[in-house]
Amino acid sequence: KLFSELQDLKGNIRVYCRIRPFLPGQTEKLSTIENISENGQLVIANPSKPGKDGQRSFKFNKVFGPDATQGEVFADIQPFVKSVVDGYNVCIFAYGQTGSGKTYTMTGPTGATEEEWGVNYLALNHLFKVSQDRKSNMVYEVAVQMVEIYNEQVRDLLSSDVGITTISQPNGLAVPEACMHPVISTSDVLDLMDIGFKNRAVSATALNARSSRSHSIVTVHVRGKNVKTGTVLYGNLHLIDLAGSERVDRSEVTGHRLREAQHINKSLSSLGDVIFALAKKSPHVPYRNSKLTQVLQSALGGQAKTIMLVQLNPDATSFSESMSTLKFAERVS
Ligand code: ADP
Ligand code: MG
Repeated sequence: KLFSELQDLKGNIRVYCRIRPFLPGQTEKLSTIENISENGQLVIANPSKPGKDGQRSFKFNKVFGPDATQGEVFADIQPFVKSVVDGYNVCIFAYGQTGSGKTYTMTGPTGATEEEWGVNYLALNHLFKVSQDRKSNMVYEVAVQMVEIYNEQVRDLLSSDVGITTISQPNGLAVPEACMHPVISTSDVLDLMDIGFKNRAVSATALNARSSRSHSIVTVHVRGKNVKTGTVLYGNLHLIDLAGSERVDRSEVTGHRLREAQHINKSLSSLGDVIFALAKKSPHVPYRNSKLTQVLQSALGGQAKTIMLVQLNPDATSFSESMSTLKFAERVS
């Protein structure tokens, strides 16, 4: 059943939209969200153009409104995660402007309770559950890597060295030089992610809000061996919290801020180009144009499955950023 469910996916790419709620303490609550339908249609309204003229509609595989829980979002991701133990490669991306809820969806809020756990933890938890099924003939090994891409440089967030190792990326295949950590339980994973996030914070030093200017990638490697037949299967799960997609006003930034912005624009548009090429089954897929698409090359395309979680801030002041996020989503879906 799972197989046919996955076969049904158009081009193996699924695009979901998630709208975060207004935050406590936010007094001005003018929303751009006009309507959300069960069938995945989202209508947004331009606050400075009232009436039908200012409305636009977008179609997703599913739209999660501000009240959707972490568990509800994960329920629509779970079948993909499960397919990793059957040897599939799966990429899950969170895309959107800074403040739209990417990290909330992927990781959860700081100090998350179990109920607030994001996709990263829920996915790992689910993989452990599936891989520890004693009735099956399969024996699984799970290992985790965590890297960050900042200014087109790949950094190992789980390096045992003090500080963070920069990896000279070879052929664009996976991340062979990043430390691989075997894990046997969710609490191992929680510990590792803690280290990774702390390392990310350490490297933030002088740069403002560095985490929103870099892509973070948690890669889970699953190796399954059938003890009866000796057959071995490999699957990968990549969990990606992308850099903020907001357009930076070129007239206002210079120096490293401008360079950062150019690198982010380049990598996000390259990602869009790759997914677009895969969706229309183009013979040429332009992986080489950014570090992000090079690192993920083997995980995108072929039998691989991709979920794009498109995040929106409902605030009317975010209307134009929301439109540009939605246009990105429209192109890849
Ligand atoms: P991003 O990573 O895109 O910059 P964050 O995930 O940091 O955005 O979210 C911005 C703020 O909104 C944070 O305070 C976060 O806890 C809150 N937030 C985001 N999504 C939700 C949600 N679905 N429910 C409750 N709070 C949320
Ligand atoms: Mg974030």
